[in-house]
Order: sequence, then C-alpha cells, then structure tokens
Amino acid sequence: VPLLELDDVSFAYPDGTEVLRGVSLTVPAGSRVALVGPSGAGKSTVLALVEGFYPLSGGTIRWAGTDVRELPRAALRAQLGYVEQEAPVLAGTVRENLLLAAPHAADDELWAVLADVGLTGVVQRSPRGLDVPVGDEGVLLSGGERQRLAIARSLLARPALLLLDEPTASLDARNEGLLRETLAAAAADRALLVVAHRLSTVLDSDQIVVLDAGRVVARGTHGELVGTS
Ligand code: ADP
Ligand code: ADP
Repeated sequence: VPLLELDDVSFAYPDGTEVLRGVSLTVPAGSRVALVGPSGAGKSTVLALVEGFYPLSGGTIRWAGTDVRELPRAALRAQLGYVEQEAPVLAGTVRENLLLAAPHAADDELWAVLADVGLTGVVQRSPRGLDVPVGDEGVLLSGGERQRLAIARSLLARPALLLLDEPTASLDARNEGLLRETLAAAAADRALLVVAHRLSTVLDSDQIVVLDAGRVVARGTHGELVGTS
C-alpha cells in the first residue's frame, strides 16, 4: 500500500474554477515523486488538497490505504511537512525558527538538520551562531537560504512525507544545486512530493508526473520521459 494515493481526483475551487480532472498518482513510502508542468497546471492545488485545505469534487485521497476523510485531520497533518512556495521565515533567529517545529530539540539536532540543508556555513559565519537573526533589517540570509531554513524547520518535525511547493522557484543555479543535495538528504528516510516547473530540479526523482491543464499527461522516470532508457 503506498503512503499517499490520489485516485481519480477532480477539483474545482469554490469560485467554480475547475482545476484538476481525474488526477491519479501514488507516493510509495521512501520515494521521491515530482509534479512538473506549466504555471497554472494545478500543481500547487494538488499539495493543498493533500493538506486538506479543500474538499475534493471527485475521487479519493488515501493515506496508507485509508480514505483521508476517515482520518482526523490533525493526525494526518502531523505526518506531513508542507513547505509552501515562498516559505515564510519568521522574524527572530535561526534557532527560534527551528524550535517552532521541535520546541525541545537539542542544539546537536539543530546543527545536524542545518548540515542536511547546507546551512551550517551561514550560522558559523556569525559569532551569534544559532542565534543569528533572520527576519530583521540587516538580514544575512539570502532567498535560497531562507528557503532551506524553512525546509530544515519542517524536517525537524520528522514528517513521513515532505510536500515541497516550488522549492527552487527563486533560486539561482548554485542554490538550485544545493537544494537538490538537500532533497537527496531529506529523502534518505522519508517520502517527498515536490512541485517544480523546471525538470532540472527533479531529474533524480523515482517518478515524475507531468500535469497540464489539470490532467496527468505523462509519467515516468526522467529517462523514460525523454526516451533514453
Ligand atoms: P500551478 O501550481 O501548477 O501553477 P495552481 O494549482 O496554483 O497551478 O493553479 C491552478 C489553477 O487554479 C490556476 O488557473 C489558478 O489560477 C487557479 N487557482 C489557484 N488558486 C485558486 C483559488 N484560491 N481560487 C480560484 N482559483 C485558483
Ligand atoms: P542567493 O544567490 O542565494 O540569493 P546572495 O547572492 O543573496 O545569495 O548571497 C550570497 C551569500 O552572501 C549568502 O551566503 C548570504 O548569506 C551572504 N550575504 C548576503 N547579503 C549579505 C550581507 N549584507 N552581508 C553579509 N553577507 C551577506
């Protein structure tokens, strides 16, 4: 039984905008699935539905085989690490941002997760270490670093499934490379469902699902999709 399964999911926003039509996909435990496609295809909406922001118009979402409508929403959310697009980093320090997700985490654990996302350099550059400020005037974190901090925060909660919405949207090539390494580290012991509009970000996914105008138009590994395997 896959960890997450979307079975023939259709969805229209409350204003009537029909966005998804018959979308099916599975995320097996421990796997990396990427959702790619043009802007407006419905990718972010898929993540919002998994998070339970809106009821489906049709179809079923299952978590470990159980229809999510039968699961307490809080119990499901506790298993999900949702990092929205332009993930907000809160005013305060790196430490405070991380402790939001894991109030009792020890410094060792905070440093370990910062290493996973490639942020230890930033913290070490400042004499304030984990207490380096992130949200104020004179912020020393770049856009890419803020994104990685948000991912670090969600990793600390040890979700079974990480849902990442366009984690590289605002990143340059160097930071995109760093983020790919972050995702590989994050995927070591959890499943990942990643939204991207650039295929380059998600080349090494176990499965790439291509969405266009609310429908799945292709799926496979990168090699299968470009016809080289
Ligand atoms: P993608 O992530 O692939 O760019 P989205 O899921 O954000 O696509 O959006 C899919 C479609 O749904 C777009 O046409 C968008 O304008 C529309 N849409 C997104 N959010 C809302 C909303 N809250 N209400 C109505 N329509 C929306
Ligand atoms: P990115 O390409 O990720 O947006 P930037 O070019 O903004 O990165 O920043 C590159 C590096 O310089 C980052 O490590 C960032 O922390 C650091 N940095 C950015 N602004 C400042 C600053 N005003 N003072 C010191 N370091 C900075």
